[in-house]
Amino acid sequence: MTCSEFLKELTDYLDGAMDAQTKAELEDHLQWCHNCYVVCNTTKMTIEIYRESSLYELPDDLRGRLRTAIVSKCKGHGGAPSAKPASPEPK
Ligand SMILES: [Zn+2]
Repeated sequence: MTCSEFLKELTDYLDGAMDAQTKAELEDHLQWCHNCYVVCNTTKMTIEIYRESSLYELPDDLRGRLRTAIVSKCKGHGGAPSAKPASPEPK
């Protein structure tokens, strides 16, 4: 599973609205991908805050913004091979 696949399933995962197979794949991804792990936790907390304010659904706007931020973050760690920004010089 890639980061973008993970992100596509993330909201369903947090809603508990998915089959066990997909869920296992997502949890496997979380084992090795720190970015998605952080994103997952952040999104979970955001959703909990919204739920507590009795808004069950995340607004589309927020969902889209989160996703854009995450995708651009993930680009630096193997998601897009040659699109890597300059790595730190050893000197
Ligand atoms: Zn990832």
